[in-house]
Amino acid sequence: MNGGASHRPLDLRSDTVTRPDETMRAAMAAAEVGDDILDGDPTVRALEEKAAEILGTEATLWVPSGTMGNLIALTVHMRPGDRFLAPALAHVVEFELGGWASFAGGVPHALPWSAGPGRVSPASVRASVPPSQPYDALRDRLLCLENTHNAAGGTVTEPGEHRAVTATAKEAGLLVHLDGARIWNAAVALDVPPAELTWGVDSVLACLSKGLCAPMGSVLGGSAEFVRAARRLRKMLGGAVRQGGVMAAAGLVALGRIELLRNDHRNAQVLASGLRELGWEAASPETNIVLASVSDAERRVSELHRMGVLATTISGAVRFVTHADLSEQDIQEVVGRISSMSP
Ligand SMILES: *Cc1c(COP(=O)(O)O)cnc(C)c1O
Repeated sequence: MNGGASHRPLDLRSDTVTRPDETMRAAMAAAEVGDDILDGDPTVRALEEKAAEILGTEATLWVPSGTMGNLIALTVHMRPGDRFLAPALAHVVEFELGGWASFAGGVPHALPWSAGPGRVSPASVRASVPPSQPYDALRDRLLCLENTHNAAGGTVTEPGEHRAVTATAKEAGLLVHLDGARIWNAAVALDVPPAELTWGVDSVLACLSKGLCAPMGSVLGGSAEFVRAARRLRKMLGGAVRQGGVMAAAGLVALGRIELLRNDHRNAQVLASGLRELGWEAASPETNIVLASVSDAERRVSELHRMGVLATTISGAVRFVTHADLSEQDIQEVVGRISSMSP
């Protein structure tokens, strides 16, 4: 028999469930550390330099979470009375409790997915920013991009399109922040260095704690001047830590594992085709997120939980995320457990 809650649950709720393995824990245990607020922590410094090199920014700052990184970026970039544009269902708008509303002081404006799922076109950016505005209108200040776009199903924006959208935003006088929580997935899917995807941005956020398996932490990149301002805000928000090198050591191991995301992408393909063979309507994944359209997503997810398959819902679809703690065999097991459900 297959399926049944007695089996080890297979967790596809998110790539954030990944745990640090022995190699990562050994690096954390051996990390050289210092007081990162007083005179600096050498391992944090090494991580921030390595991340800057990979992201193609002048500097980066380690932050405890992606949410804090986005909040800091928006707060550096905006003033009260400003407006920021973001693709519909952007993580920064929908899933971060609107910290920018109280802290940064701006308001969001959703752009349609006019270039494809999760992707905005230069024309829609241009159309949203009037050439001149009366003094009592919101001031368009910032474009927030997201690559890969989480809620759209881990969709990828390629470098040419990124450049065109960013250039249009700059011409319109906007700053550009890239929520690249999963920029590593985009880079691997496109076979380009991550720095190709940060062209022209004023800041970029990238997570170490998702597919790359660090227990916590993200990096926020930009110019040295931006990072200086970000460092002050991190302190103000309570996100400056002392011997951060223990976490940065995990981050350094994580940065060496970007290529391994290929396995997650392959497993997402295996899962999507397995689901389709079972009669599910599963979109072909671009990275590690599989969205399946169903009539009653909440009920489906409860049924899946009973079968020992953990998933979530998003916009009325069932969402499965593949990650390093699930092997191809685990994915076959997932398909096996689902096969005993009715489609
Ligand atoms: C996960 C995620 C974040 C936030 O990261 P946390 O570390 O969970 O706070 C931001 N943006 C996107 C697109 C994400 O997927």
